[in-house]
Amino acid sequence: MRQKLVAGNWKMHGDSQSIRELLTALKPAVAESAAEIAVIPPLVYVPLCADLLAGSSIALGAQTVSEQRNPGAFTGEVCADMLADSGCRYTLVGHSERRSLYGENDALVAAKTEAALAANVLPIVCVGETKEQREAGATLDVVGQQIDVVLSTLNSGHDKITVAYEPVWAIGTGLTASPEQAQEVHAFIRTRLAAHSAELADTVRILYGGSVKAANAAELFAQPDIDGGLVGGASLDAEEFAAICNAIG
Ligand code: 13P
Repeated sequence: MRQKLVAGNWKMHGDSQSIRELLTALKPAVAESAAEIAVIPPLVYVPLCADLLAGSSIALGAQTVSEQRNPGAFTGEVCADMLADSGCRYTLVGHSERRSLYGENDALVAAKTEAALAANVLPIVCVGETKEQREAGATLDVVGQQIDVVLSTLNSGHDKITVAYEPVWAIGTGLTASPEQAQEVHAFIRTRLAAHSAELADTVRILYGGSVKAANAAELFAQPDIDGGLVGGASLDAEEFAAICNAIG
């Protein structure tokens, strides 16, 4: 059985005061959730969150990681060993905002995934099509290619990844993929994992992201191939995010 995961990607939001308030309210509100819960703050607030989450079961993640594995002259970069040392269990890789705004391509995403695994930080590999790609009927080709590059690059550790399907047209737009649309792509991703190995298809969690809110979470999470959510805007509100976490059956 795959344990469901709900992760809140705070993107570039928050300050020490708002983060203290958010986590103070969130901790008791998700204590009974059947899902594993993670929060993914801006990097500079990882140590604060690690302190505030000490003794709680809420996990911590980073929003990106360097593909460079060893310390060196890489100004502005943070390697996976540093994330592990700071208490991160997870890191996102290949979020669509990194791909579209910061030029991350499939090869770089695969290298970041490898670097995270080498430091025992669990990568959440984000994939998803744009509106134009969906309208051109290319959704499954695009997502298949994004997954295949990662699977074929890794030498080991395939079973340690989590996939997040985030249709770009649903991110921050209020447009959510319908449960059926999301399930179709999740089932397709699972067949790609199965092409690698049946065991992998059984093990790897596939999260849905894109305008998840309390009002649509239960229906999405009830789909057979949706193993939880990657939540943006709604994760900044403790009550709303807790309701999403508690919508896991
Ligand atoms: P929203 O939930 O704000 O649409 O963001 C989704 C997302 O990009 C999470 O990584």
